[in-house]
Amino acid sequence: MDCPMCAALLAPKGLTPLKLFDECAAFLNDKQGCAGWCVLVLREHVEHMDAMPVERQQRIFAEVAQVARALRAHFGSVRLNYECLGNQVHHVHWHLIPRHAADPDPKNAIWGWPAEQLSGTMTPDARAALAKRLAALLA
Ligand SMILES: [Zn+2]
Repeated sequence: MDCPMCAALLAPKGLTPLKLFDECAAFLNDKQGCAGWCVLVLREHVEHMDAMPVERQQRIFAEVAQVARALRAHFGSVRLNYECLGNQVHHVHWHLIPRHAADPDPKNAIWGWPAEQLSGTMTPDARAALAKRLAALLA
């Protein structure tokens, strides 16, 4: 199967593991144009949230919410975007995208931003420190 999320579960490229939940693997995203941008990848290849029993959907969202709480604990008054997009990668995954006070385009979703803006300027050391802090908050 040629699924980038299944591949990421086996060998995350650029994604920094934060926590392995029962349903999802949580990562700090490679792109940090919004500092703290996390991705939760369902540990099984399922293409649609609605294809799973509601109880499982609830377990998945409870994991998303745990990461959201960690982000808010770390960043304080940040606003969060919760996005479960199915149009490009057909494997259930959630983006948690912090929208900070200095957000250059706070009224819109980030997906139209230029690639370099999505990537951001966070250094590898800062990314590692943030991942360590978030992983500690999720422990
Ligand atoms: Zn997959």
